[in-house]
Amino acid sequence: MIEYKKKNVESGKPDTKVRKKWLSAKMKVTLLYTLFLMLITISSLAMLLSISNSQVLASEKSQLEKEVLDGFQYIEWDDGELDIDSDIMEVDSGVYLSVYNENGLLLYGKIPYQFTEDVFIQDGEFQVVESNGIKWYIFDSGMDIDGYGKVYIRGIISITRAEESFQILIRTTLIFLPLLVFIMIVLGYLFVSYILKPVDHMIGAVQQICESDDLSKRVEVSNGNDEIHRLAQMFNEMLEQLERNFEREKQFSSDVSHELRTPITVLLSQCEYLLEQDTLTKENREQVEVIYKKARNMAQIVSQILMVAKAEKNQLPIHFEQVEVSELVEMVVEEQRELAKEKEIQILEEIQPHLMAEVDETFFIRLLVNLISNAISYGREHGKVIVRLSERGDWIQGVIQDNGIGIPEEKLPFIWERFYRVDQSRTAGQDSSSGLGLPMVKWIVKAHGGTITVESELEKGTTFVFSIPKVQKNKK
Ligand code: ADP
Repeated sequence: MIEYKKKNVESGKPDTKVRKKWLSAKMKVTLLYTLFLMLITISSLAMLLSISNSQVLASEKSQLEKEVLDGFQYIEWDDGELDIDSDIMEVDSGVYLSVYNENGLLLYGKIPYQFTEDVFIQDGEFQVVESNGIKWYIFDSGMDIDGYGKVYIRGIISITRAEESFQILIRTTLIFLPLLVFIMIVLGYLFVSYILKPVDHMIGAVQQICESDDLSKRVEVSNGNDEIHRLAQMFNEMLEQLERNFEREKQFSSDVSHELRTPITVLLSQCEYLLEQDTLTKENREQVEVIYKKARNMAQIVSQILMVAKAEKNQLPIHFEQVEVSELVEMVVEEQRELAKEKEIQILEEIQPHLMAEVDETFFIRLLVNLISNAISYGREHGKVIVRLSERGDWIQGVIQDNGIGIPEEKLPFIWERFYRVDQSRTAGQDSSSGLGLPMVKWIVKAHGGTITVESELEKGTTFVFSIPKVQKNKK
């Protein structure tokens, strides 16, 4: 068993799965907006509360002053006696009134029973006194009563009551604030989600384009001219440009290959003609044989280029038929043993017998040849190649594993691209290396509705795993 660290890369797809967990743009905007709204709400509430608090206290003060000054109407000097109307005892708007003579002696009036402090009279002044845990405003005012002399009226009002009702207001606000914040977050999130909906559609469309490798797909753009719509339009324009460039490039390689086919055929037939001549010297024969071999390699590469170009344009006919794939794999392995022998590589088979699947026989063989020949070409001398074939539910799974030179992790995503070779030095000496084998493999697997992954580690080895369905749903 060949063992090495796993590095898994799916055929040509960008690795979108490994992503750090960041907050989504929706969440960021919602949080920012909530923070902003909260700051505004809290500061305006604090401002409002403090303004209305001082406003309430100011109105308590003026009420107190008014009641005290009004109180003098209940006092008069009548027949040598100080007459104080009992109406002064009425506690209007929470103000208690009491009357004192100039020595500070209480003559008449009402004092709240919780107010037990002895406070000096201070004419025309407001005093704040705390008594029995209650805060009071006191206002004294004096007046000369004809015939009697100076009398003072003292007004007392509790400000704790006003402050308490205020604290209730603050407490209620504090209870409702989290609820308000929650509602703001939910509404904000819904609002931002609504605005960013086209972006979500775009992400989905782009993901689909990446997964299907199909540049002809476009992002759906609804009516509108905001930044998001413009972004989608620009994205589509970019896709169109990319598609055009790719098409041009594909057309170019297909045209060049077509153009090269005739001169290569002429070259081959001329070489064959020369090789049939007895007049050739030994040295000339060897030279012609070299040219003949190179021309054959060129012909092989050119036909591969044409095939890949056609495959990418969906111009390759594919015929699915029920085939015993186990037999096909065994046959290809036998064929490849010759190549393996040159490097003294041992091919180990673990093939489940009599497995049937709907495949295109020619393409399925090409898939196996490309993968196994690569495993041998890039395998180490006296090494091993393992070929497995097994049934996995409705799927057939194939594994081609070698303990060869491996592929550097950073190069893995590119091996599926046309003409890509990991580095020139490793393919030196391999005349037929063109960087077209794996793109063809990728196309074949895709055409069979399957998947292929690769795991590799430098100097340890490489494993290709492909899976194809046993039954083709969209048979051609
Ligand atoms: P090539 O004709 O060069 O083999 P492929 O498309 O088949 O082209 O492969 C692309 C590149 O991937 C190769 O040039 C080689 O560097 C690398 N490669 C493919 N298979 C293996 C393998 N089994 N082990 C190591 N490298 C591999």
